[in-house]
Amino acid sequence: MSFSTDLLAWYDHSARSLPWRGERAPYRIWLSEVMLQQTQAETVKGYYARFLTAYPDVAALAAADEQAVLKLWEGLGYYSRARNLHAAARIVAGELGGAFPGSAEGLRKLPGIGPYAANAIASIAFSEPVPALDGNQARVLSRVLAWEEIVRTPFDLLSPATALMDRVRPGDYNQALMDLGAAVCTPKSPKCDACPVAGHCRAFAEDAALEYPHKRPPTVKKQQDRTILLMYENGKLLVRCRPKGLLGGLYEFVAVEGHFDDGADLIAALEDRGFAGVRLIRPLPEAKHVFTHLVWRMRGWQAECDAVPEGYTAVDREVLSALPFPSALRTYREIAGKY
Ligand code: SF4
Repeated sequence: MSFSTDLLAWYDHSARSLPWRGERAPYRIWLSEVMLQQTQAETVKGYYARFLTAYPDVAALAAADEQAVLKLWEGLGYYSRARNLHAAARIVAGELGGAFPGSAEGLRKLPGIGPYAANAIASIAFSEPVPALDGNQARVLSRVLAWEEIVRTPFDLLSPATALMDRVRPGDYNQALMDLGAAVCTPKSPKCDACPVAGHCRAFAEDAALEYPHKRPPTVKKQQDRTILLMYENGKLLVRCRPKGLLGGLYEFVAVEGHFDDGADLIAALEDRGFAGVRLIRPLPEAKHVFTHLVWRMRGWQAECDAVPEGYTAVDREVLSALPFPSALRTYREIAGKY
């Protein structure tokens, strides 16, 4: 029996039960694939259901307000996914007359659909035999093939992955590899004794599963110190919408780069930015948020001021609860919500 035959036979009785499994509608497959990037399936389930209730088809999503889409996305992180989702929906519902492109190549032209998502959607929705190469699939295949080269990106394995694919059930094949990577061929403790493709796996034969994939040394993340202020003016909290770039379109509190052991230095930094009459009320807990390439190390203060530079809006608690904030600011958002 071939690798794909054994894999699909296992999938037919062991596939994970997930709400998007069995779907053929490109809109629903696309939505699930975008949400599953960087996020565990268990977390995605609730968001997927809420999104489909709010936006049952691509036309409904295209007609939505971006802030409402970001609000529904709140907590999933990597917000550029939500903005791209919305932009792509507008293109599909507008320029493309409501129909998704029917190939991986066409799908890649839409905002936010990279090679992995394009191949996953095309294989599941349109049965195109293209491998959905993400970290999971690359890990499994690098072990099966005992791939000796460094895997910089999963698509380094494009050629052997394409050769191994099942041509008749490409969507199921890709999903089977996703399930195998999630449940059996896991990063740190692969269950080789229970693996349906152990008979095809060179790493298993060499008793060397954990040696694959060969990776390049990790890059050191940049550390950034920030001071976050829950700054009140006349009893209302100051917030502003972040410009394009990191967390663009989401809201944030007053923030200053750096940490300040002396409150007078912090007040001076705020005055440099146009605040006046600043009074520090009390320190808030520290927090840390790890992005893909960056770490925010945050200290917090509750404060008041009499004058505010342009760009900030003073909001009450009710308005605050309706605004989309990034997970990075969750600690301070929760504190602010209690006042
Ligand atoms: S035999 Fe082990 S290393 Fe090979 S694919 Fe299966 S779980 Fe992964």
